[in-house]
Order: sequence, then structure tokens, then C-alpha cells
Amino acid sequence: MADSKPEQLTQIDYRPPRKDWMDAEVGFRKGVMCYSAAPKNLQYLELPNPREWQPFDKDWKLPPDWKRIILEGMRERLRRFRSFRLFMDICVRCGACADKCHFYIGSGDPKNMPVLRAELMRSVYRRYFTSAGKLLGKWAGARELTEDVLKEWFYYFYQCTECRRCSVFCPYGIDTAEVTMIGRELLNMVGCNINWVLEPAANCFRTGNHLGVQPHGFKDSIDFAVDELNEITGVRVEAPINRKGAEILFIVPSADYFAIPHYFTFLGYLMLLHEVGLDYTFSAFASEGGNFGLFQSHDMTKRLNAKIYAEAKRLGVKWILGGECGHMWRVIHQYMDTLNGPADFLEEPVSPVTGTRFDNARSTKMVHICEFTADLIHQGKLNLDPSRNDRWNVTFHDSCNPARAMGLLEEPRYILREVCRQFHEMPENTIREQTLCCGSGAGLGTDENLEMRLRGGLPRAHAVKYVRDTFGVNLLACICAIDKATLPPLLEYWVPGVEVAGVHELLGNALVMKGERERTADLRGQPLAGEEAPAHA
Ligand code: SF4
Ligand code: SF4
Repeated sequence: MADSKPEQLTQIDYRPPRKDWMDAEVGFRKGVMCYSAAPKNLQYLELPNPREWQPFDKDWKLPPDWKRIILEGMRERLRRFRSFRLFMDICVRCGACADKCHFYIGSGDPKNMPVLRAELMRSVYRRYFTSAGKLLGKWAGARELTEDVLKEWFYYFYQCTECRRCSVFCPYGIDTAEVTMIGRELLNMVGCNINWVLEPAANCFRTGNHLGVQPHGFKDSIDFAVDELNEITGVRVEAPINRKGAEILFIVPSADYFAIPHYFTFLGYLMLLHEVGLDYTFSAFASEGGNFGLFQSHDMTKRLNAKIYAEAKRLGVKWILGGECGHMWRVIHQYMDTLNGPADFLEEPVSPVTGTRFDNARSTKMVHICEFTADLIHQGKLNLDPSRNDRWNVTFHDSCNPARAMGLLEEPRYILREVCRQFHEMPENTIREQTLCCGSGAGLGTDENLEMRLRGGLPRAHAVKYVRDTFGVNLLACICAIDKATLPPLLEYWVPGVEVAGVHELLGNALVMKGERERTADLRGQPLAGEEAPAHA
């Protein structure tokens, strides 16, 4: 089905199936599910029930007491997380969230409606934890926890990108992403997890980053970027690693120094930090800002995130700057302070270039690079030539987590308007808090799941198509590493002719550095507007 043409994939049947929604049987097939996690990754992370199995197997090789484990896990979480109990109790089934999920819009499967996704869990909650459910069973919307129900949880909790769009529209503020997170935690307790989440998490423990890049690889990669920048700009920048006593620790997602198009954003960071003379350092251990633990459990989130504050302490920095990443900022803004903090050993962040105090980061001590850069531009500290981005007609995709989890809406737009001369917004109900997900977040960005990714990304692609066809937009800018990896194939499928870039790639193109040679190429090595192709391109 992933080989289908767009015209075929848009034949979506929104008529509900005839069978009762309580019928839990689901059909696993390639293209709409993710493969199970390899046993070695469970062993590395000391997770229960490592074994060979796949979701389409009949026998999932569950532990004999799997039902007791799940129900005990549920009981404990109902006690620990007030939000979870509340979300189990207060939904009035008004349906305001029903058509807000990109997976429902793209698949027509009613169980991808947020209300019904959560109901898969609520029905079990009612049966075992409420009097009405215990007494009246199905008549009170309750159902037994069976193997089929567990398999259904797996299917639908790994068809939710935890994007939280539905929560924006719920009059009660029910956050179905939180229900998914608990669902995944429970599944993990009996060894039901996916490799695309656990392998990056295991790599992170081994080498500090999701890609499994070892310290010497990290250094090689940064050295390569420094050499390449020298070739493009004639300026040799410093990019220190593990430098004790630096003022600021700079944390980026690992894709920034290893993947395309992320790498061009990384070049932009290096140029910027050099240009303003920032006293900073990378860390070879905290060489990852992203946190795939968030897609597995609260405990794993905490274990993976600990390295950021640990490295800040070891290196003796004053505060932390963070790069363009999505879920990294959800963890930082919503969890890090209580999971791994308080970071009292750090100072409240103040820009050494402008003197601006970042009050919003008083608690976490961590500033987003878009906040930092927007302030530099606002205070007139950067010499910018936006005409260098004239080959791009740009729109901005609000990545779910920076938009909804931290409210970073204006800063990236402000930067883009200063560094590009052609910028157009997508329709209002598809941006800012209402932004539509790429369809591949929360660990679902793997190729075996491609059909569901294309379906889930359809609403976002549709909005991009609108600005491409109306204004001639040819570049989608964003500030999330997962977006940069998964939007290019999505757009190639639905909206050919639109490329993807980070905000700091465009900033790097426009930045006029002191002492630079006459620039003929952008950071992709492509000629600037009006230039011939450069020799090294
Ligand atoms: S909008 Fe909120 S209350 Fe209404 S059905 Fe959805 S989750 Fe339930
Ligand atoms: S969090 Fe996102 S993916 Fe999950 S149900 Fe809500 S809208 Fe759908």
C-alpha cells in the first residue's frame, strides 16, 4: 500500500465499520505498524521479557501473568498520576476532538479518533477500577482485558504521535497523548515495544546519542563541519568539545551533526556562535538533546535526560543552550525540572551578547536557540543579507512540541522574516497551536510504517500544497530533527517541489560574518541567487 499512488491513498472511507467498537481484533500488516524491539535492546536497557516476536505473530510470547502485571501497573499509575485518573473519568464524549487527529483524517479508522483511542484504555479502567463497570460490564462501557485488547492497544498507541493536537480542542483539556504514554508504559511492562524507540534509547545509554555515534565520531563530524564552513565562508570557527569552564553548554539533537538536511542547520549554529563570540562547549557524552525515552516511559525519559544536567555540572557551565529539536523541548519544558532538577547549581540564563535575561528559563536554565537568535537580531547584533535566501520561497511548519509544549510560536517566524524575503503562512487552522503533525513523531518515523506515516502526514502536506500552489512556496522551514528527517519523503510523495530546512540553515545563509570571503554558495553548496555554481559544490 505504501507503493500506492497519492490518488489511491486519498480514497479514504469514513463510514464506520459494521462491527462493534468493543470488538478488539486488529489486522497487523506491513506499512501500518512498527516492528518489535530486538531482544538485545531490551536486555541492554534491562527491560522485561526480551524475546523474538513480531506484532503479526499469533503468539506474542507474553509472560504467564501478563494480565496481573498490566492491571497492577495501571493501578499504580492511577495513584501516581492525577492527570491519568482524571482523563479516565471526565470525558463526556462530546466529539470535539474526533476529527482533529491527523491519523483519523488520513485513515478514516474511527479508533484513530482521540476519543476512541483513549476509550480503548478507559473501557478496561471501568471494568477493573469502577463500581459501575464491575457491576454492569458492557452496559457501563467496560470490557475485559484480553490478549486481543492488548494487541489493539499496541496497534493504536503506536498510531499516535503524542502530538497533543486533540488536547487543544477538548473543552476539558483531556490530553490523549498522556493516555498513549501510559498505554505504552504498560505495554512495555510485558515486553511489547518497538525497535524504532528502543534502539535509539539503547544507543543513547551506550554512546550518549540515538545514532550510536562514539565520541571520536562526534569529534570527526564537528571537525568536518568546521573545515567545510572554512571552505564556504573563508572563516575558521572554533567548536570546542568537553571544555571545562565554558560559560554555556550547547546541546543539539544528534541528527544535526549526522543527517541531511539537519547538517546545514548545524553549520548555521556554528557560524552564529562564532560570529557573536559565544564562550560555549559541546559535550561528547551529552551529544544528544532528543530523548526517545519519552516514547517508552517516564522512567526512561528521566534516565536518558540525566546526562544533560550531569554534564552541565561536570563542565562547570553557567547555563545551557539547546538546538532545533522537537520532543527534546517537550521534555525540557514539561518534565526536566522535576525529573532531573532542580538545577540550582546553574545560573538564570543571561545572554552575554545583549544582556537579555531569559526569565522563561529561570527554572530549567535552558534556552532555545531560536529565543537566543531572535534576541540577537532584535538587538541589532547580526549583519544579515536576506537576499542570499532569494531562491527560497518559505513557509513555516510549527513542530508540535515547540509549538504546543513550550509556546515557541513567534521567535522562529521573527527570524525567518529577517533572513528571507519571501515568506507565506499556511492556513491558520494548520499552524501555531493548531499545527498539524508530520505523522512520524513519537518513534513512528520508520519505513516499515510508511503507509501510516503518509496517511498521518496528509493533512500537513495538504496545507503545504495550498501555499505551494497559491504563492509558489518551495521550502518548508521547521525546528525539529524528526520533522527534518520525515517531512522530505512526505512532501516528495504529496507535494513534490517543496524542500525542507531548519531555521538556522537560512540564518547561516543570510549571516554576513566578519572577515568572510565573498560568498558565492549557500550552506548546501548551491550557488546564491545570480551566482554560477561554485567550484567546490
Ligand atoms: S473533546 Fe474531550 S471531552 Fe470531548 S470527546 Fe474528546 S476527549 Fe472527550
Ligand atoms: S495526540 Fe495527536 S496523534 Fe495522538 S490522538 Fe491526539 S491528535 Fe492523534
